[in-house]
Amino acid sequence: MKHYDITIIGAGPAGATLARQLQENYKVLLVDKRPLDKEPGRLIKNCGGLIAPDAQKALAVFGLSIPKEVLVSPQMFSVETLDFDNDMTRTYQRHYINVDRERYDRWLVSLCGSHIEKAFNTRFRGAVKKKGYYEVTLLSKANKSVVTTDIIIGADGANSKVKKELLPKQFHEPKRYISIQEWFPNTIHLNQYVAMFDEEISDFYSWIIPEENGIIFGSAIPEGKDATTYHNLQKEKLKKYGYHLTNPTKKEGCLLLRPMSSKDIYLGEGNIALIGEAAGFISPTSAEGISYAMLSGNILAQSILKSKENFLALYIENTKSLKKNIDKKMLKYPAMYHRTLRKWIFKLGIGSMHIEQNRQTNTYVKNKVTPFMVEYSL
Ligand SMILES: Cc1cc2nc3c(=O)[nH]c(=O)nc-3n(C[C@H](O)[C@H](O)[C@H](O)COP(=O)(O)OP(=O)(O)OC[C@H]3O[C@@H](n4cnc5c(N)ncnc54)[C@H](O)[C@@H]3O)c2cc1C
Repeated sequence: MKHYDITIIGAGPAGATLARQLQENYKVLLVDKRPLDKEPGRLIKNCGGLIAPDAQKALAVFGLSIPKEVLVSPQMFSVETLDFDNDMTRTYQRHYINVDRERYDRWLVSLCGSHIEKAFNTRFRGAVKKKGYYEVTLLSKANKSVVTTDIIIGADGANSKVKKELLPKQFHEPKRYISIQEWFPNTIHLNQYVAMFDEEISDFYSWIIPEENGIIFGSAIPEGKDATTYHNLQKEKLKKYGYHLTNPTKKEGCLLLRPMSSKDIYLGEGNIALIGEAAGFISPTSAEGISYAMLSGNILAQSILKSKENFLALYIENTKSLKKNIDKKMLKYPAMYHRTLRKWIFKLGIGSMHIEQNRQTNTYVKNKVTPFMVEYSL
């Protein structure tokens, strides 16, 4: 049986960052169910692929710049916000980097040196605690294998099996949403990011992101509501704003977490730690999770490098600022999600930008209708 110091389950932005930052001091196994070393198969990460300013800053801290093969067009400079509750729209300046998420993850994995052993196309099935170590069961195609390890890291995302199987149930849990994304041909030639708030659909939000020749329409529906029905209803209601989304080419659904306070973050116990969305690290206002994943992965790596024996206590201490950041985001929450407050912010135009009537989009978004699409100039 092969033995590892650290076994990381999940090679998304959190797991890949942790693996990259652990230097050659440890014997590390990086496991992922996706075939990240081969052509992408059916299993790909369901994501909008927007690298927000916080994630851009994290990349800068690591001295990384995104290679052009990972980028997709268009690169966007604004977000149009549709407020269905108050029948208003506003545009805000934002700068996201638009990437192909699968290629982004593969790029991060490619930065992990050869000293990191990789087991891709391989699922984590469970682990049993022995005296001073764990026996981890992995499944690759039909082949079961068992390895032993001192430390297990759950970097396996929202639906973390490491958390479910190995860690006691927590009192505080992030809110759970079913997120559906549907891909359409970009017949409306959209070239900006669109976010929509609609209490009838969700207490979170829905979005449209242009990506290469297509557009992605996504929604986050609270668990317990019929996600497909409300996703379709939002799509139907979008027609009023000129967005007619027809002939979908692909549809994906997955779990999305939303911590409502830093108390919902759970970092692990004993020799098991959680990073990224598995720990509950994701923005409660925008669902931006890539920066939190990379930053928590890095903090854990630094903690392990300092002390393999005492790493969890260090990790808990050093993630305090990241947890504080979640609470700070919650201060913004009413301005975004309280319909009356949002109405006043829209009315006053706080933070929004003036859009020229003869902007490029006007020529191709033919179906957009008045009066809601009349931009409010400051
Ligand atoms: C629809 C949607 C759109 C989003 N859009 C954005 C966006 O535009 N920008 C942004 O910043 N954030 C976005 N997010 C959030 C972001 O995708 C996540 O927060 C982020 O990917 C978390 O990174 P992670 O490494 O913690 O987990 P993940 O990226 O989820 O990676 C987990 C990895 O674990 C692997 N895995 C899971 N279970 C097992 C198992 N049993 N065995 C082996 N491997 C396993 C998976 O294959 C995956 O590679 C979006 C989320 C959703 C749901």
